[in-house]
Amino acid sequence: MTLAQDAKSILDSLGVDPALYTGGTLTKISPMTGEEIAALPENTAEDTAAAVARARAAFKEWRMVPAPKRGELVRLLGEELRTHKEALGRMVSIEAGKIPSEGLGEVQEMIDICDFATGLSRQLYGLTIATERPGHRMMEQWHPLGVVGIISAFNFPVAVWSWNAALALVCGNPVIWKPSEKSPLTALASMAILQKALDRFGDAPEGLAQLLIGGADVGNALVEDPDVALVSATGSTRMGRIVGPKVAERFGRCILELGGNNAGIVCPSADLDMTLRAVAFGAMGTAGQRCTSQRRLFVHADVYDDLVPRLVKAYESVSVGNPLEANHLVGPLIDKDAFDGMEKALSDAKAVGGTVHGGGRVDTGAESAYYARPALVEMPEQSGPMLHETFAPILYVTKYTDFDAAIEAQNAVGAGLSSCIFTLNVRETEQFLSAAGSDCGIANVNIGTSGAEIGGAFGGEKETGGGRESGSDAWKGYMRRATNTVNYSSQLPLAQGVVFDI
Ligand code: NAD
Repeated sequence: MTLAQDAKSILDSLGVDPALYTGGTLTKISPMTGEEIAALPENTAEDTAAAVARARAAFKEWRMVPAPKRGELVRLLGEELRTHKEALGRMVSIEAGKIPSEGLGEVQEMIDICDFATGLSRQLYGLTIATERPGHRMMEQWHPLGVVGIISAFNFPVAVWSWNAALALVCGNPVIWKPSEKSPLTALASMAILQKALDRFGDAPEGLAQLLIGGADVGNALVEDPDVALVSATGSTRMGRIVGPKVAERFGRCILELGGNNAGIVCPSADLDMTLRAVAFGAMGTAGQRCTSQRRLFVHADVYDDLVPRLVKAYESVSVGNPLEANHLVGPLIDKDAFDGMEKALSDAKAVGGTVHGGGRVDTGAESAYYARPALVEMPEQSGPMLHETFAPILYVTKYTDFDAAIEAQNAVGAGLSSCIFTLNVRETEQFLSAAGSDCGIANVNIGTSGAEIGGAFGGEKETGGGRESGSDAWKGYMRRATNTVNYSSQLPLAQGVVFDI
């Protein structure tokens, strides 16, 4: 069976209308083999305006549905995802090139956020606040915000949508999803699964959850529409630099989840076996195409000669190839541009004195598929391409002797997403986690930079955009806060003792 047939049989099994993925202008190539697997009709800017109008109408109804009932829809979505986990996980592999366990893992993440959001639907708490005025009560309420536009990246083609959609729906908001043009089929599959939940739920308003297929222009129509209350955009910092100011200009709300350049510090006391495994997964897993992929490593001089040659060996032995055909750990890059970007970064690294281990194209016989051998680059110092995210499996390694300088170097890049330290020393641990330590949204101890769970708020600082999604109190980003003061007395005392007698 070809991948195109494989994809079709998955979409058929979920009840997706073939007209949605055949005969259109958006051709989808599987990175596994380079073969065309679908050609999707694209939406236009006018379609976006119509979708927003439908969502606005849905908002008026959905915001009045009690939150625990809204949670029931998300609970049903979680059930449907459990039922269709294998199919959607395989679709993620076919479309994004992930190894099977990562494809399934991504769907598990969707299930986890549905469970979280279902519980959350009974916990959208506001505070009661002490007031200085007698006979008064002050409180805050969290109300639904409005239409939520979700723009997502190719590398987590479905999990990012679910992080946003599950929270937005229980918070009382309709959602419009513009997935990456590189991963539209998993979006069709996810929407079909959601439709099953909607059918079982029964009386959700039409237009509550919609999908727009297309590129940046369609995303831009959502960004510029004043009726989209929140734009949650995941992708490159380049994209965020365009989207952020446009949404700010119309006083809309934005959650930006942008690029990372994630570092780790390996201290003299580190458990090196554990460090080796964590770094190998973090840097080579998902072919280096996670926003949280491990990209930089600062290794103390005392353990450098012990750890780095072992890492180089792991890089030499890791199996690269089509993960659906054999038990490979590293699958393809998404496309030729990604491969060219990797080649350029490696040549730039050499130009500033880097020693490259690995790298280069792996021939799988598929001319239009781009498999790369992961590269470890020993750098004399942090410079050149090490300062920027290259969305490919490159790990830059430098030696350090001074711990404070290592923390400073880890923070001396534009991105601020994820970070980690490997140490058994409590002073180093606490300094790394302190206000003077890692400046990232995620700071881990004795685990790598990638592989977040949904329970915590996810996101990063600086050029990563500052947004938070998923767990903890990230839901507050999808609601508006109203502070209410109620006077149940017969007097009208003014705050701060102001007197205004008429
Ligand atoms: P990308 O920026 O090329 O595209 C992301 C999405 O933005 C796509 O849907 C695209 O169509 C849309 N888009 C692009 N320009 C736009 C514009 N001007 N207006 C509106 N929409 C626009 O990113 P990509 O290559 O798909 O994904 C890789 C990048 O995403 C990496 O930088 C990675 O670190 C980042 N990422 C970040 C997170 C996170 O949570 N921080 C998660 C996943 C990926």
